[in-house]
Amino acid sequence: MLRDTVRALAEAKIAPFAAEVDEQGRFPQEALDALSAADLQAVHIPEEYEGAGADALATVLVIEEVARVCASSSLIPAVNKLGTMPLMLSASEDLKRRYLTPVARGEAMFSYCLSEPEAGSDAAGMKARAVRDGDYWVLNGVKRWITNAGVSEYYTVMAVTDPDKRSKGISAFVVEKSDEGVSFGAPEKKLGIKGSPTREVYLDNVRIPADRMIGEEGTGFATAMATLDHTRVTIAAQALGIAQGALDYAKNYVQERRQFGKPIADFQGVQFMLADMAMKLEAARALTYQAAAKSERGDADLTFYGAAAKCYASDAAMEITIDAIQLLGGYGYTRDYPVERMMRDAKITQIYEGTNQVQRIVMARNLPK
Ligand SMILES: Cc1cc2nc3c(=O)[nH]c(=O)nc-3n(C[C@H](O)[C@H](O)[C@H](O)COP(=O)(O)OP(=O)(O)OC[C@H]3O[C@@H](n4cnc5c(N)ncnc54)[C@H](O)[C@@H]3O)c2cc1C
Repeated sequence: MLRDTVRALAEAKIAPFAAEVDEQGRFPQEALDALSAADLQAVHIPEEYEGAGADALATVLVIEEVARVCASSSLIPAVNKLGTMPLMLSASEDLKRRYLTPVARGEAMFSYCLSEPEAGSDAAGMKARAVRDGDYWVLNGVKRWITNAGVSEYYTVMAVTDPDKRSKGISAFVVEKSDEGVSFGAPEKKLGIKGSPTREVYLDNVRIPADRMIGEEGTGFATAMATLDHTRVTIAAQALGIAQGALDYAKNYVQERRQFGKPIADFQGVQFMLADMAMKLEAARALTYQAAAKSERGDADLTFYGAAAKCYASDAAMEITIDAIQLLGGYGYTRDYPVERMMRDAKITQIYEGTNQVQRIVMARNLPK
């Protein structure tokens, strides 16, 4: 039911703009408008903060169905979850009420600022600094690769409050776009997800009230990692959606394309490729939904399953989208067909929220009992 609703909305209101958004590298405003009108822009926010109160699996379904037609647009619900999850996990009641409610109403979006130019996989090596000054914290530094930067009103920012303690000296804060000293770099020129702005966030003596700290001082890195346990499941969902879009397109194409006097779908070489694509997709889906259930329950083994779902589904999406191009032959290699965009979009799911090498490190350290 939820899947059908989102699919209908995505096909009617998001799919028609997907190629143009990619070609022009512009923000998919039509998607934001359509998702917000249907209360789907941040479905994960609980009802007590005026949200839809969707559980982790329902959130996965929304992201999956949007990504099936436009991966860039799927970053609207996905990054709203990424940005707000630190608050949901660790913030005071007051902070939650102040910042979750506008996101639930569709009045603001939320980004997540962990990475820096010199701190990617080794995120704890960050340099951004927060220094206490009476009832305020003063933030300085550069956050890099921030999805939806400039479009989002609010930012969860991780910064060092005690340089001697490495990861235990990092704290999390809510920063507003309108805070004095906040500015943004030029949009990155990317391979894919071109409709999702990725920019640096500059913090230049940004002075924020002390009550904008999320949780206790020194808990920011733990909150950031706990967030990723939950949100890697949403990246898996994005990968599933992209792969499903490519498989659906290829499935129809092979029925229509004729060579040697018959549809290419009649050739066993083509059928076996489709069978493998569907098999990988369904295996990825089963793991992702299992991880979503663990995310919802807060199971102790979520760290393994979140990493495994993200890693497996993104690798599957890469293989499936490459095979979809193969099934379209030369046509698949052109921008006249959507599968090359899907392949370019799939690639990022192997990189962000921790590269797939990092996922394997996380899995190895958290093997299921
Ligand atoms: C489009 C886009 C959007 C993003 N959005 C956000 C966002 O919203 N917020 C945010 O905070 N970040 C975001 N990121 C950052 C992203 O999470 C990082 O790019 C990613 O974690 C990798 O860091 P890096 O780019 O510095 O690569 P590096 O850490 O320099 O890695 C380079 C290579 O070395 C490998 N490597 C590194 N360490 C190890 C190791 N120990 N063992 C084996 N291999 C290793 C990596 O896997 C990779 O292949 C985004 C990135 C992109 C490209």
